Amino acid sequence: MSIAQERRLVTAIPGPRSLERLEHKLAYVADGVGTTLPVFVAEAGGGVLVDVDGNHLIDLGSGIAVTTVGNAAPSVVRHVQEQVAAFTHTCFMVTPYDGYVDVCAALAELTPGEHAKKSALFNSGAEAVENAVKIARVATGRDAVAVFDHAYHGRTNLTMAMTAKNMPYKNGFGPFAGEVYRAPMSYPLRDGLSGAEAAARAIDVLDKQVGAANLACLVIEPIQGEGGFVVPAPGFLPALAAWSRENGIVFIADEIQSGFCRTGDWFASDHEGVVPDLVTTAKGIAGGLPLAGVTGRTELMDAVHVGGLGGTYGGNPVACAAALGAIDEMRTQDLASRARQIGSFVQGRLEALAGEHDVIADVRGRGAMMAIELCRPGTVEPDPVRTAAVSAYCHQQGVVTLTCGTWGNVFRFLPPLSIGDGLLAEAFDVVAEAFTATA
Ligand SMILES: *Cc1c(COP(=O)(O)O)cnc(C)c1O
Repeated sequence: MSIAQERRLVTAIPGPRSLERLEHKLAYVADGVGTTLPVFVAEAGGGVLVDVDGNHLIDLGSGIAVTTVGNAAPSVVRHVQEQVAAFTHTCFMVTPYDGYVDVCAALAELTPGEHAKKSALFNSGAEAVENAVKIARVATGRDAVAVFDHAYHGRTNLTMAMTAKNMPYKNGFGPFAGEVYRAPMSYPLRDGLSGAEAAARAIDVLDKQVGAANLACLVIEPIQGEGGFVVPAPGFLPALAAWSRENGIVFIADEIQSGFCRTGDWFASDHEGVVPDLVTTAKGIAGGLPLAGVTGRTELMDAVHVGGLGGTYGGNPVACAAALGAIDEMRTQDLASRARQIGSFVQGRLEALAGEHDVIADVRGRGAMMAIELCRPGTVEPDPVRTAAVSAYCHQQGVVTLTCGTWGNVFRFLPPLSIGDGLLAEAFDVVAEAFTATA
């Protein structure tokens, strides 16, 4: 690793060179494309981002759960370099190549369940979710799609309809796709229900408002991402999966954020032994290159007519090479175990912090996907202002942090699994300082 694995600030954050480039960005990049922390990155690796001013920042975001194997991970770089020199594109639908098939074979092996599986590859998570719905509709001959409160599934027209939060994802962008129905999520901090009770509540809504026989699929994030790292109560997911099976509804796990070792298992569904009919993947799959997949039961995947699935770039050879490099890294380095280690360290630090600051109403998550929810002390009234202040303090101190949640009051931690223990500890020292400094 050529990048020094340390936090080192040589200017204010953002520094003068980043500010110069920010002006350029504001002149030429549409304002709709926002930026959380406008430091312009020059290089990155391990657990560090180096900006154009020479600041070394600790990365607790992984580019939103993407660089799970680390940024510019050596195995990813090697695979990509070889592939980009061999050929960059043929379009798999015109003339195929091995990388695509090898990624599909890996997905068949790694995703939950021992049944026969096939995959189709795409460019983005939203595209994968859209295609999972297309497949479920053809396979069932039904139209309706069930999604959940706080869900995030993307920004295309169908996935905007499936995403819960209006600002900034949906506001003014309608009309949205029809036949999307929202059920209450299990949210232990806010509903106090057991998994079975929360599942019964969701099933009742779907039964009465939609009718099980009209549902093509039920789409759920096993641990919600943008919606607030909401971890459903134990038993919620298995109950929904069982109900879906009994009613011929395709159970789709959106593992785009939670998949590929992030939560300490290959997939978050594995934790409770849930076997989805279809799984959507993206983000962590390819070490930073754009790739997404839908993987599922062969009989469902093959329900679609030949030519019905695809896209010009879907499963691009360079992105597939990156995925094979990333998956190889996850396997050989046993990154699922590393995620569990990171999870127990982070959980310990966050629980200690929650003991000192009563603004922290909940510590939750799994593996390297942990979060705290900030509320007015003694209540569950969201405190997005304090959340933003804590995150901004971390940014100024050279730690890249992210917030999320329907109310913007969840502070989430998504370190790359390549981060060292010392760096991780230092990052959480800064987080602790941030709570004291903003009290
Ligand atoms: C990020 C995300 C998506 C959308 O993925 P894009 O690649 O941004 O289109 C969908 N579902 C979940 C759970 C996500 O976290």
